[in-house]
Order: sequence, then C-alpha cells, then structure tokens
Amino acid sequence: MSGINSETKLLGVIGNPVSHSLSPIIFNKAFQECGLNLCYSAFNIQPNDLEAGLQGMVALGFLGFNVTLPFKEAVLPFLDSIHRDAKIIGAVNTVVIKEGRLCGYNTDGSGFVDSLEERGIKATGKNILLIGAGGAAKAVAVSLALQGVQSIVIANRTLSRAQELSDKVASIGVNSWAAPTEDINREDFLKTFDIVVNATPIGMKSLDEPLLLPVQNLSPGTVVCDLIYRTHDTRLLREASTRGFTAVDGSGMLLHQGARAFQLFTGHKPPLQAMRKALAVALCQSM
Ligand code: NDP
Repeated sequence: MSGINSETKLLGVIGNPVSHSLSPIIFNKAFQECGLNLCYSAFNIQPNDLEAGLQGMVALGFLGFNVTLPFKEAVLPFLDSIHRDAKIIGAVNTVVIKEGRLCGYNTDGSGFVDSLEERGIKATGKNILLIGAGGAAKAVAVSLALQGVQSIVIANRTLSRAQELSDKVASIGVNSWAAPTEDINREDFLKTFDIVVNATPIGMKSLDEPLLLPVQNLSPGTVVCDLIYRTHDTRLLREASTRGFTAVDGSGMLLHQGARAFQLFTGHKPPLQAMRKALAVALCQSM
C-alpha cells in the first residue's frame, strides 16, 4: 500500500508503558509486505481507562489489538470469548475484534514452541526444566504441556508460585514438580532434562550477571533456551554455545507470537522473513 487513507483499518498494542514496544515496526512492515491497507500503532492506556479504551477500539472499527503489561490478565473480564490456551494460561496477548465481539488469544507460548520447531527441535516427549513462574513462564509451560511433553519441572525463587504453575501443568495431564532454585546447583539435578528454559530476567542487564545454572552439569544434547530477546548474547547462551549445546534466544518467540497474531488479525500467512528482518533492525536500534 502506498499510504494511509480513508479505507485504512487500524490495529495496535495496548500497555503501560508501551513506548518500548517493537510491535508497530514489525506489524507495519508485515502489512506493507502483504499489500494490506492496515496501520498498527501503540497506545498507552491508564488502568482506569481500560474498559473505555476497548470500547473505543470497537467503535472505531479496529480489527484487533495486542496486549502487553500490565493488561494481559486485566482485559479478561471484558472479552466475549477466550481461546482454550489463553483460558488455561489465564492471560491474553492478542484480541481479534469480529462483528463487535472481542475474542482473546495467547500466542506467547505457541510462539515459543514455533521458535523451537524452526530450529528443528521437537518438544513432544521431552523433559523440560523451566526457571521462573511469571507471565512468560506460564505461557511457555502451558503451551509445552499442550504439546505433549513428558514432564516439566518448574524452579522459581518464590516456591509457592512454582507450585501453582506446576499444578496448572499437572491439570493438563503432564507430570510436573516445583523445585526451589537452589536445587539447580545440585550436581545430579540437571542431568535429566532435554530442554532448559530461562524465563526470568536474569542475564538481561549484562554478561557479568551471575550464571543461572552450572552449564557443565547438563547432559550432552540438552537444548538451552533464554526467553530474553533484547540481547542475543546472554551469559547463559554464550556459556551453552561454548560448551557445544544448542542455544536458543528469545527473539524467535517474539517473532512467532507476532506472526501468529498477524494470522489471527488478517487471515493471511505471515511474511516471516520480512518480519524477522524488521525485528532484527528494531532490536539493533533499541540496544
Ligand atoms: P514476570 O515479572 O512475570 O516474572 C519474572 C520471573 O522471574 C518470576 O518467576 C520471578 O521470580 C523471577 N525473577 C525475577 N527476578 C529474579 C531474581 N533476581 N532472581 C531470581 N528470580 C527472579 O516477568 P515475565 O515472565 O514477563 O518475563 C520474564 C522474562 O521473559 C524477561 O526476561 C522477559 O523479557 C522475557 N520475555 C520474553 C518474551 C519473548 O517473546 N521472548 C515475552 C515475554 C517475556 P518470583 O516469582 O520469585 O518473583
């Protein structure tokens, strides 16, 4: 499309703050690539204005919107339908507006599974260690469980949150335990996992942060994932690569959750290469 005109349909991301969001760059590039007359922006909403903001988007004919912190759970009461994954996760990151109805989805966890699959890594039947029990961990744990993994151990600083998440995973029918983070340093503990995922912000600030786990204790062939996406090179990923493990950073999850949202919004196949390129440029500019 050559530019915005009176036929242009709107989409966006709501959050607070939201100025850091890379979504406008990625989505607008994707719309341009597919020749869609759509425009995507970022909207900073005050918590008290959330309901009015949603009504406004319906009234203005928005096709849908993404949801970031702190609204991923807060939007739930305002939705007309919630897809299975989002219902189990208890949070929504994508809302499609169809005939005035708000339909909620969560593409974060499935985006993570996609990011493994594009690297040729199948999660089905695997034993997983997930470190962290916050929003990202929840989405990843539920999607991995729905994918049919063998087991998920959740290690978290606050053990009660790990227990809550492992109960959720167990309710899907997958073996799951909560573990205190100190267990990670036990010599035999890491041996049993096929995939290890960091879902905490530890490692985001610099390469000097303490190493999250003793990488030397992992079994050969273990896949090491870090959901951090602002930098490709966390200390965990660097150490894992140096020792010959497959290392997966969080940019693939970010890309694929967006690609899935694009498909839900437009019904078109996402232009993955263009989105990946736009994301890489946006990440470089934001560092
Ligand atoms: P939350 O705040 O919801 O959860 C943070 C988790 O990290 C909690 O389990 C918390 O433990 C733990 N944690 C935080 N600080 C420490 C610390 N100093 N020591 C030990 N544990 C700690 O954050 P999110 O789940 O939203 O995000 C987690 C990570 O995932 C971030 O790095 C974020 O950038 C990344 N992310 C990546 C995405 C992607 O697309 N790649 C998407 C979303 C997030 P406790 O429960 O004890 O507080």
